Amino acid sequence: MSAVPPPAAKYALTYVYVQAEFGVCCPLSMTDALTRTIRKFADPALVARYLPGLTSQDMDTLIQGAMFMTEQQAGSGVGLISTSARKQGEQWALYGDKWFCSNVDAGLALVLARPA
Ligand SMILES: Cc1cc2nc3c(=O)[nH]c(=O)nc-3n(C[C@H](O)[C@H](O)[C@H](O)COP(=O)(O)OP(=O)(O)OC[C@H]3O[C@@H](n4cnc5c(N)ncnc54)[C@H](O)[C@@H]3O)c2cc1C
Repeated sequence: MSAVPPPAAKYALTYVYVQAEFGVCCPLSMTDALTRTIRKFADPALVARYLPGLTSQDMDTLIQGAMFMTEQQAGSGVGLISTSARKQGEQWALYGDKWFCSNVDAGLALVLARPA
C-alpha cells in the first residue's frame, strides 16, 4: 500500500490548487474522502478490490467516488438522517431519501444510513 501524506499537507496543497481551478476539485475531493473512509473502516476484501482503482492515476482504470449524506432535514446536522440500511443475506438494502450528491455519475458511492 502506498504512503499517504498527512491530511494537513494534503488540504494545504488543495487550498493552493483550488485558487486556480475549482471544477476538478469536487470529484477529486469526493474520491479522496470515499477512499479515506473505506481504507479506515471497510472490510479488507472490499479495500483490496477497490483501492487500486480509487488511487489510480490512469484515467482508463480510475474509479471516482461520490457521497450521499445530506437529507432535507439533515444538512449541517447530518446526525438527523433517517435513511436506514437493512441486511438482506449478504447485501444491505437502503430505505429513505437523499437530497444531494455531487459527482453523481462516479463508479462508487458512499451512502450514510442507520443500520436497522
Ligand atoms: C456545491 C455543493 C455540493 C454538495 N455536495 C454534496 C454531496 O456530494 N453529498 C451530500 O450528501 N451533500 C452535498 N451537499 C449538501 C451539503 O452537505 C449541505 O448543503 C450542507 O450540509 C448544509 O446543509 P443545508 O443546505 O441543509 O443547510 P442547513 O444545515 O439548513 O443550514 C442553513 C443555514 O443555517 C446555518 N446553520 C446550520 N446549523 C447551524 C447551527 N447549529 N448553528 C448556527 N447556524 C447553523 C448554516 O450555516 C446555513 O447558513 C453539497 C452542497 C453544495 C452547496
